[in-house]
Amino acid sequence: MRFSEGPPSVSSNSNQEWLLRAEQVLAGGVSSQFRRGEALVFHYGRGSHFWDVDGREYLDYTLSQGPLIHGHSPMAILDRVQQGLQHGMIYSGIHPEEVELAEKLTSIIPGADQVRFSCTGSEADHAAMRLARAYTGRSKIIKFEGHYHGWYDTIVGSINPSLDEAGSKDQPSTVPWTGGLATGSLDDLIVLPWNCPEAVEKVLSEHGDQIAAIITEPCMCNSGCIEPQPGYLEHLRSLCDQYQVILIFDEVITGFRLALGGAQQRYHVMPDLSVFGKAVAGGFPISVLAGRRHVMDALTDGRAIHAGTLNAHLPAVSACLASIELLEEDDSRRIRGLETYTKALMKGIREISTALGLPVWIQGPGPVFHMGFLREGVQSPPSISDYRSVVQAYDTSRYGQFVEKMKAEGIRLIGRGIWYTSTAHTQEDLNSTLAACDSVMRTMVSG
Ligand code: PMP
Repeated sequence: MRFSEGPPSVSSNSNQEWLLRAEQVLAGGVSSQFRRGEALVFHYGRGSHFWDVDGREYLDYTLSQGPLIHGHSPMAILDRVQQGLQHGMIYSGIHPEEVELAEKLTSIIPGADQVRFSCTGSEADHAAMRLARAYTGRSKIIKFEGHYHGWYDTIVGSINPSLDEAGSKDQPSTVPWTGGLATGSLDDLIVLPWNCPEAVEKVLSEHGDQIAAIITEPCMCNSGCIEPQPGYLEHLRSLCDQYQVILIFDEVITGFRLALGGAQQRYHVMPDLSVFGKAVAGGFPISVLAGRRHVMDALTDGRAIHAGTLNAHLPAVSACLASIELLEEDDSRRIRGLETYTKALMKGIREISTALGLPVWIQGPGPVFHMGFLREGVQSPPSISDYRSVVQAYDTSRYGQFVEKMKAEGIRLIGRGIWYTSTAHTQEDLNSTLAACDSVMRTMVSG
């Protein structure tokens, strides 16, 4: 693998030394649960590549769990941020770029008449649910098994439950993700299977007048990158209309990856509220709560409160504007390039694994997809439509071996099977990824 611009200097401490130091002073050695077990110490990133402190170069498909849609340190974004910083950072008021960004977002996101900014996806999801409760005067929220909507207390039910504790398929138990929850914090959560309209219909027909919102990833990226079955999102939309329930799309992963207007644009279904994060600012910390005006009115008139000292921090706002401009350039040339790259990557991996007789299954909407090894006895094509079928279909330890072997080849992947691509990935990256896949899969066949 070759990359023209290498790191300026390598840290004097080794990866191992930094990890030991980190373990002493960072709880668990990391700053987020999702980095545990996968940590290497990185110190430089450019485009689709990054380097660890031992000077090892990696081609990156983690993209920091999604945000780096233009790769590491894209100059157009950094220049814009630096220009903005000449003026200031944050004011206790509003600033022109914040208004320009809100105008831009309301023009590109179909379900956005108005927006509010926060810093993380978790915060914006939390705000969306509070707003839905305030607007409807109801308290219960429907979420789907295997979906993730941030780490706040009232929504961390059944994110990745074991099948032993998950309860029956039609009426799943609400399994807490973590200890330390406030008493009763999951009491208003109803967990249902994804892609099963009958389950939603049943709950709404029995308890519709208590349900404030249905929150869903429009494509279930956090568990297997499963797309909605034809008509499913439309069905949710019409049930929400019938029972006057707020439909929330959590677009934290799909936002600006599936289309400039998000999954709602790609699937032609309009939510009442939607939440964007991760890739919207190419790696800067900003999230967006977007919604229809009549619902957002509950923020305007103070029925629901949303706040945040660092909301609309100027560098993140500038980065978001710059990232959108890059995506819009030349009639969305970069988005098309991203799709073309990812389709070729998915097709190439499929061809290699098929030729070697490996039971690999790849699915997803494109610039984010899932790859896994099917367990013995699972038919191909597998029937994967919800969280339980994901758990039953994939052999996660075999995928773990694949990830380790790819790391040794200089390709960095996320352990749970999600691949993210960026507009910075090149034909050369595609070739080297497929060559590495071929050699790794050969060792898996022979070993
Ligand atoms: N929603 C979804 C769909 C996510 O995937 C994530 C993060 N993985 C979040 C919300 C939470 O976002 P953040 O980590 O920025 O709080």
